[in-house]
Amino acid sequence: MDSFWWVLIVFGTGGFGWAADNVRTALRNRHERKMELLEVAKQERLAVEAANKAPEPVCGCTHHLAKHDKQGRCHERVEVPTAWDENKKPLRYEAGECNCQQYVGPQPLSQVFAEELTDRA
Ligand SMILES: [Zn+2]
Ligand SMILES: [Zn+2]
Repeated sequence: MDSFWWVLIVFGTGGFGWAADNVRTALRNRHERKMELLEVAKQERLAVEAANKAPEPVCGCTHHLAKHDKQGRCHERVEVPTAWDENKKPLRYEAGECNCQQYVGPQPLSQVFAEELTDRA
């Protein structure tokens, strides 16, 4: 019965509290780890969704890319202000052509990624 008394003493003098703390810490760590995994899974899902979504074929001039010719010139008709009031507010408009040259610099990463995917298919 000697060992029984040792157990009683250890638990009675804070040994139990120490053990309980350890269990609590372990449970908390596991909970935090689970939350981390959930967060990572959420971000991965968002990244996959973003990659699967086709990039909007809209130019920086807000006109659809279909309105641009091979050289990138935009042919969309726009209203060009020809007269302004004292508050610099346009008073009259004239039909004009959008003079956009289309952005030809590096493509955004999502667009490159999406095109690689469609090429392979
Ligand atoms: Zn444009
Ligand atoms: Zn345009």
